Amino acid sequence: MDFSHYSDDPVSMAVDLVNTLDVVSGEDRLRHPDDVIDFISQYEDGWCRPGRQPEERDLHEVRALRARMREVFTAPDATAAAEQLNGVLADVGAKPRVSVHGTAPPHLHFEPETDSPVRWLGAVAGMGLAVAIIEGGFERLGVCGSSTCDDVFVDTSRNRSRHHCSDTCTTRENVAAYRRRKRSAED
Ligand SMILES: [Zn+2]
Ligand SMILES: [Zn+2]
Repeated sequence: MDFSHYSDDPVSMAVDLVNTLDVVSGEDRLRHPDDVIDFISQYEDGWCRPGRQPEERDLHEVRALRARMREVFTAPDATAAAEQLNGVLADVGAKPRVSVHGTAPPHLHFEPETDSPVRWLGAVAGMGLAVAIIEGGFERLGVCGSSTCDDVFVDTSRNRSRHHCSDTCTTRENVAAYRRRKRSAED
């Protein structure tokens, strides 16, 4: 079965959604209902859209979804991650349907065609993570190893060697490690 429709944008959507809250600094990029619109509009083409404009209530629901999605990344093992993710998919009402749109062959979609932003986001991003876990393994889900960053990531490197959320964090940590080594060599 081809779930690959859910493997690029939806995975980024899940990662980016969790990372809209910097849990180290407390800085939240979802402060206003319009921020939810801005977040969703990063992902163009091929996806249905929520059935209505986000309101204050939706903002709170999306933040709650974000917290639950983070727990998929921080779960102790694949069983716990699956349980957490299945809870999200059930609560947002992710439901398979055969979709025929554009020039694509008929394929499955799981998000509602028209519904609240949280149900749409939860179904698309939730299915993205589901596919990432099924095809790549739970070990590919990670939290940044930097001491100043707790952003999440999905490791798509061939040998699953990623420890940080971004090149910025890798560079910063490498520089810090180099300085530590240099200091201890000088002692
Ligand atoms: Zn489609
Ligand atoms: Zn990081």
